[in-house]
This record gives sequence, structure tokens and C-alpha cells, in this order.
Amino acid sequence: MVAGVLAVLIVAWLLLYHRTASTPTKSPSSSPQESSSVPPTSAPSTVPQPSPASPPGSGLNAQDQAASLTVVVNKGRILPSTYVPANLVVPDVALRLGSGSPDMHVRADTAVAMKQLFDRAAQSGLQLKLASGYRSYSTQKALYNGYVASSGQAYADASSARPGHSEHQTGLAADLEPASRNCEIQQCFGTTAEGKWLASNAYRYGFIIRYQEGKDKLTGYEYEPWHVRYIGTDLATKVYKSGKTLEQYFGMTTYADYPATNYQLR
Ligand SMILES: [Zn+2]
Repeated sequence: MVAGVLAVLIVAWLLLYHRTASTPTKSPSSSPQESSSVPPTSAPSTVPQPSPASPPGSGLNAQDQAASLTVVVNKGRILPSTYVPANLVVPDVALRLGSGSPDMHVRADTAVAMKQLFDRAAQSGLQLKLASGYRSYSTQKALYNGYVASSGQAYADASSARPGHSEHQTGLAADLEPASRNCEIQQCFGTTAEGKWLASNAYRYGFIIRYQEGKDKLTGYEYEPWHVRYIGTDLATKVYKSGKTLEQYFGMTTYADYPATNYQLR
């Protein structure tokens, strides 16, 4: 009974706030899913140090390692359900939710770059806000299952990532919005001053617009001008100037839909 009420609450909330794969995932604070998420950091606004680009010595391709700066997660490549980034912090930027919320966290290296990005935007008179950052496997699972329960699997797959397939689980992805929350998690964000600035300048701070317009057959997702992915300044510059998707840039297989067998990341 309680689970049923919870499910209804979650679904209602999802319908309000979660139109697509990358929408924010604030769950009701009573949600049991939250318990397995990362606890709030005790010093949320401290400036973190960048973490290593990838763990050394594994011999795996960086793109296959969940903790790598250049990990590639998509509909064909799945993260371990147990993977939680080691250095999740609250970036020192404007937040949509309170700093205790798990999805107001990102990886430490991403937080440093995000502050630089926001500060530079502010110098141009543009105020950005973090709408959603880190999302745990269990949170993504609840989000996706909520869609399946309310609208069926076909709709769920078109609107949300299956658990393990969300880039938000890496702590390297973030959904951004104007401080006004105009066009929040909507494609019209790309037409706002903030969205246009972001599209043209994000790479300077190490971010790419991950799901570009007209590339949905390559990325598996519709155009998401709000969803940025941190990959470091050098690589972001190269990818941006190539005009390619991340998968194309690396010469990797692209997935418009979920394949029968996933490639398991480590
Ligand atoms: Zn997103």
C-alpha cells in the first residue's frame, strides 16, 4: 500500500519534471531509493582538486572504465550497477535544489570546471543554474520504472535511460538551465541566450553538448541542449571542432536503440 502511494507520487512528480532522459531526478525525500544514494558531503562548497583522468594500470581502454574522464556510456554500453564516483562534491554554483540533494553533486573535477564555466557566463551577463548532476543507479532505476509503470516500456525508452545507461551515473554529466529556469529541460533552452552561449563556449571549459540536434540516430537521444558532459578541455575542444558526436570522434559503435547485448563497462 505504501509502495503504491509512493509509486503514484513518484510518477506524478516524474510527469511534472522528467520529460526526457536527462531530466532532474529529485525524488520525494521519503523515497527509499534515496537511501542508497550518495550522502551529502559535510563541506559541500569547498573547492575540490581535479581527480586523475583515469585509473592507472588496468590495461583497459579509458572509454571502458567507469571512472575515466573519457568513459563512454550510451544505450549499448552499461555501467556497473555498483559504480559510484569516488569524489562527488557540490559545485560552487547556483543550484536548483538544496546542497544536500544527491543530484546537486558532480565529480570533483567536473565541479571545478563547472564553476569556471558559470563564472565566465556571468561575466557575459548570463546566469546559469545546475538543474541536475549525479544520479545513482538506483535513482535511475526508479525513474525508468516509473515511466514503464505509467506509460509502458516504449515510451520509457524514448524518454528515459535504463539504469546503468545514464551518463549522469558517472558524475561527469549535468543538466544546466538559466537561473530564471526558463525552458527548463526543454529544447527551447537552445534558443535562450544562456543556451546559445553554452553551445558556443562550453568546450572552453571542458564540456560538450552531448546530444546534438539532428544526431539522435547516432546518440540514441533527442536533442538535449541542456545536457553537458565533462571530458576535459583538450578533448572537448577537439570534439567540438570536429562537429562529431563523442562516439563518432572515438570511432566507436553508435546505438540508436538498446542492442540485444550490452557492452559491460568496468
Ligand atoms: Zn542530462
